Amino acid sequence: MTVPTTAAIDELSEELSPGSVLTDPEILASYERDRELWASAVAPLAVVRASTVEQVSTVLRWATRHSIPVVPRGAGSGLAGAANGVEGGIVLSLEAMDQVLALDPTDQYAVVQPGVVTAELKRLAAAHGLRYAPDPGSAEFCTIGGNVATNAGGLCCLKYGVTRDSVLGLEVVLADGRILRLGGRTVKDVAGLDLLGLFVGSEGMLGVVTEVTVRLRPAPRSVATLVASFDELAAAGRAVAGVLTEGRPSMCELMDAPTLRAVEEYRPSGLDTDAAALLLVQTDDGDVEAIERCARACEEAGAGFVMTTQDEAESELLTMARRTALDALEAQGQWLLDDVCVPLSAVPDLVAGCQEIGTRHGVTVACFGHIGDGNMHPTVVFDHGDIAAESRARRAAEEIARLGLHLGGTVTGEHGVGLAKRDLMAEQVGPVHLDVQRAVKEALDPAGILNPGKSLG
Ligand SMILES: Cc1cc2nc3c(=O)[nH]c(=O)nc-3n(C[C@H](O)[C@H](O)[C@H](O)COP(=O)(O)OP(=O)(O)OC[C@H]3O[C@@H](n4cnc5c(N)ncnc54)[C@H](O)[C@@H]3O)c2cc1C
Repeated sequence: MTVPTTAAIDELSEELSPGSVLTDPEILASYERDRELWASAVAPLAVVRASTVEQVSTVLRWATRHSIPVVPRGAGSGLAGAANGVEGGIVLSLEAMDQVLALDPTDQYAVVQPGVVTAELKRLAAAHGLRYAPDPGSAEFCTIGGNVATNAGGLCCLKYGVTRDSVLGLEVVLADGRILRLGGRTVKDVAGLDLLGLFVGSEGMLGVVTEVTVRLRPAPRSVATLVASFDELAAAGRAVAGVLTEGRPSMCELMDAPTLRAVEEYRPSGLDTDAAALLLVQTDDGDVEAIERCARACEEAGAGFVMTTQDEAESELLTMARRTALDALEAQGQWLLDDVCVPLSAVPDLVAGCQEIGTRHGVTVACFGHIGDGNMHPTVVFDHGDIAAESRARRAAEEIARLGLHLGGTVTGEHGVGLAKRDLMAEQVGPVHLDVQRAVKEALDPAGILNPGKSLG
């Protein structure tokens, strides 16, 4: 039975605890979109702040009953429009479910609620001599639930993998309100189909994550960092091949000239702004020789300047320079950020191609990212309010994603599909793949209430 939406919202308010259902227009507007600026977004009818799994279950049963779309949401730091509000829907915020429920140093796992901020889990693990390895650039403000739903990557994937590689178990509420438990506390588990893997990266379209058991690992023994600058991008590409063979790095990041200039202007730290590219490499296993071997690989590839440090504070400062890349570019103007991942050998062609595309369209393209994974974030920057530049920037961004495909890569390495990459994903995976994805969605969410319109259309 369908009832008018306002009556349905009143019904939900009565079923949940007081204060859980928010309808203040200012609050609704603040939950309209994530950090991606271009995809369509609609203010939700209500924001529901869940604090228990039972409440999440109640919300989804109610939504299925009334065919009301539900957009699950963590911190809204996503870069694909995946958490944007949809027509006639509500936003289900998991921010208030922010407790660490258990941490076991012997078996090296923690059980957390989805609203726990990633960096807080990392700090807690560190206090027990352990590490939670996934390290998105947004760690200080994104949530574990959002990381699971996007299968977030980051700076340390090179050695420790993506979020999926650190998820041992999940509790998920299905669209009909049933609670599904997946995995457990063991590193290995092949009992049945890999449903855990199916839910990681499902962008809120298959279920709502209400609890995550994460794998912890021993804390790094000591960190050593290398900075190398290059007069030409191709030389930096050659250096990466050498670095990956020599050092087993935990991080291998690149910033090109436009990124370097923006970062130095934003927060001066003595970066070489005349360089064509700067590599930032880190090792963390106490093998002090490794970083020196990486330094030699950079010199052999033609680096103009190479510096290494084992000082933690200095290492942190250098890493911060890379983490501020997007904020620094934001200070330069309006931006459109891409997330192309290509085979390693194709990275120099990708970066050179981005520069050519930028020149042809009369916009700046700044390239930075996780070069050790082949995952770059070419970012088109143009002046605020310049409508002509905006349409050139959009064409440039689309060409960059297609260049990634042409080079044998993917249109999204870690940010996800959401709304921003929906059409390009369809182009990449083809009709059979899409049919299978839709069959899975139909089986788990026949009423289509979970994050409709995203990714699968
Ligand atoms: C400066 C900056 C740097 C970034 N660096 C990186 C990076 O290095 N690597 C990277 O991968 N990403 C990065 N991101 C993107 C973003 O932070 C990640 O995608 C992050 O995982 C999103 O988490 P969130 O809590 O903000 O999720 P949201 O943005 O709120 O949601 C993201 C998606 O997850 C779904 N979702 C959220 N919570 C749940 C839940 N409990 N159950 C089911 N679905 C849910 C939403 O519906 C949506 O589809 C960066 C973003 C910024 C702004």
